[in-house]
Amino acid sequence: MRIFKAVAVVGITATLFACQATQSQQNISNQQTDKPKNVIMVVADGMGPAYITAYRNYRDNPNTETVEPVVFDDILVGTATTYPASVSGYVTDSAASATALAAGIKTYNGAIGVDVNKQPVRTVLHQARLNGMKTGIAVTSQIVHATPAAYVAANESRENYNQLADSYYDDRINEDFILDVMLGGGQRFFERSDRNITGEFIDAGYQYVDTYNQLATLTEPTRVLGLFAPVAVPWALDDSRANRLEYMTRHAIKHLENANGFFLLVEASLVDWAGHANDISSAMAEMHDLALTIQLLRDYVRDNPDTLVVLTADHSTGGLSIAADGEYRWSPEFLHSMQLSVPTMVEALPATDDWVGLVEQGFGFKLSEAEQDLVLSIDTSSSSWEQQGILNDIIDARTNTGWTTSGHTGEDVGVFSFGQGAERFSGAQDNTAIATKLFDLLGTQVRGEQNQKHGASSVKQEEVSDEGANTCSFKDSWRC
Ligand SMILES: [Zn+2]
Repeated sequence: MRIFKAVAVVGITATLFACQATQSQQNISNQQTDKPKNVIMVVADGMGPAYITAYRNYRDNPNTETVEPVVFDDILVGTATTYPASVSGYVTDSAASATALAAGIKTYNGAIGVDVNKQPVRTVLHQARLNGMKTGIAVTSQIVHATPAAYVAANESRENYNQLADSYYDDRINEDFILDVMLGGGQRFFERSDRNITGEFIDAGYQYVDTYNQLATLTEPTRVLGLFAPVAVPWALDDSRANRLEYMTRHAIKHLENANGFFLLVEASLVDWAGHANDISSAMAEMHDLALTIQLLRDYVRDNPDTLVVLTADHSTGGLSIAADGEYRWSPEFLHSMQLSVPTMVEALPATDDWVGLVEQGFGFKLSEAEQDLVLSIDTSSSSWEQQGILNDIIDARTNTGWTTSGHTGEDVGVFSFGQGAERFSGAQDNTAIATKLFDLLGTQVRGEQNQKHGASSVKQEEVSDEGANTCSFKDSWRC
């Protein structure tokens, strides 16, 4: 499946990167006046415009005439197109869009940090590392999922999770690891029968934690690998810390702060997964954790005005609509009492005889007779996906929420920014421009064309295969 050997690639690219670092540093001192010391890139996976509106309505105080603004409204500066390379049409996946946001190039759906010719490209996170900044990621999916992986690694396919985990340890820039801080899920990909990457990081001097509480015990700045779940962390509705993205972000910053600045990638990964599941209750809970994270970052920038924060989405998911079926109504109040995520309710069904009681407890409201009949019609031998669909249908009918797809949709997304250099992200732009503007602010000028050439000239392919690209099917695996 793999098109090149990571060690060979990294050896060559790292050398090339090292040569250019000096030039970059000169550019910084000579030209950049609004260059931020720290850069925090936040990707809300799947957060199309409807998610912002839905969240604002969800948080509305119904006793006032106005729908009160939310934290996103204060920082909106523009829009971004999301389309991938033409070979993949108009609708992107998270791998192609993350590569666009990270490296400033269009590529095919499924590509992790490689161009349409499957050649590795330099990302803004790599550039930050070259500049001597500390680097980190804090995400709610596995840390090798498409978005964070595209900032860190290079692979022809997003599905090669084990190879991506290998890359996180094996790849080097200036003979050092690429990341100082890694927080999220993904134990399964780091502790494997064939390789214990967690152990290798520990041996290399990283602190390892696997609970949120342990993370808080690391009071002195250190390199840290925090993996809090086998794959993704639990849904916000179920997790021991509903604010876990805000919590991971806060601790990541604590370990990254230093005189040379830092680059942190934050991803609200599970907004997208809720969208794929057409699960409005989890979508809003995930949006709330993101809102708490942005509030934390606003407070941080108030105290550290030399920090830049950019927030955008990689695409929208699910075709979410605020109202459905010809009815002029959206009723988010039914989401306020949710106690459990829909997947967790479905998992709990076989262990109880009182399905109606379980679902009423999970939803936090009494079911009508028709709704009770729907719950009792669930076939626990059917797929979890189908069972969840019945519960989501009840919530959709209560709230009058609409969905058009279990996949992504191709509309433009919002761009939000604040802090030093934030004004550069205003207006309508292509998603690749977010990377090129960050490259500029990091003191180097990498344009898409150059980046592709850079990759092609610096890497030798050792194995070539046409398989593996763009094979993530929503029919088989909705977590694409
Ligand atoms: Zn997705």
